[in-house]
Amino acid sequence: MMRSNSGLWQVEAVPAFQDNYLWVLHDGAQAVVVDPGDATAIATFLRARKLALRSILCTHHHADHIGGVADLQAQFGPVEVIGPEDARIPGRTQTALDGDVLTLAPGEFRVLAVPGHTLSHVAYCWRDRLFCGDTLFALGCGRMFEGTPEQLHGSLMRLANLPGEWWVHCAHEYTLSNLAFALAVDADNPALQQRGQQERARRQVGRATVPSLLSAERATNPFLRCTAPAVIAAAEDWAGSVLPSPVAVFAALRTWKNTF
Ligand SMILES: [Zn+2]
Repeated sequence: MMRSNSGLWQVEAVPAFQDNYLWVLHDGAQAVVVDPGDATAIATFLRARKLALRSILCTHHHADHIGGVADLQAQFGPVEVIGPEDARIPGRTQTALDGDVLTLAPGEFRVLAVPGHTLSHVAYCWRDRLFCGDTLFALGCGRMFEGTPEQLHGSLMRLANLPGEWWVHCAHEYTLSNLAFALAVDADNPALQQRGQQERARRQVGRATVPSLLSAERATNPFLRCTAPAVIAAAEDWAGSVLPSPVAVFAALRTWKNTF
């Protein structure tokens, strides 16, 4: 087996369940895993490449993100488990607080608190890559299970302000269903139309649509475009009332999407 000792880290998606992506960073010898919902999928990947598991990062407490943590700890020995301050995340050895900079095998990870999908949700930034769990999706955003529209909108704006050339590593392949909604909201957006063709073509040959570029999300994701006149008009049309703020537009879009 080819083993790289060059210290070059790469990121790979491990598919799991119906449509989850579990992210593995590795350099050919050691690995860091983000949101291992499924221990078997991760263990199979690590063993096939003879990777030593060093750290597990958790973005939030949902089972499809943390379900494999305990099993991986049992299988791979003492592994540091980093996650937000939340008793619903078991096995945590280190707490990730907003603004923390974690020094792990691949380098520094910056922690951003992004409440909304859940209240304790965090995202991790490493180099030009954002691991954002279920907060921001390609062409969409997470459901608001625990937070308010103000919180989730604020979290999305925080992510949207990261550099446009960064890659968004979200946790699900939801892009085509998100695309259908985005087109219902923002049909005349040429950047969205073009991206739609590209993403459909990718899925037709079974390719992942993630990671996506943050600049593409800013140009095409309706949930990041709550100040665009066309998006405001569509949201007001759906709501049947004037929406006086970007948060009100966001709240209407999120509710609309739930029944779309
Ligand atoms: Zn979730």
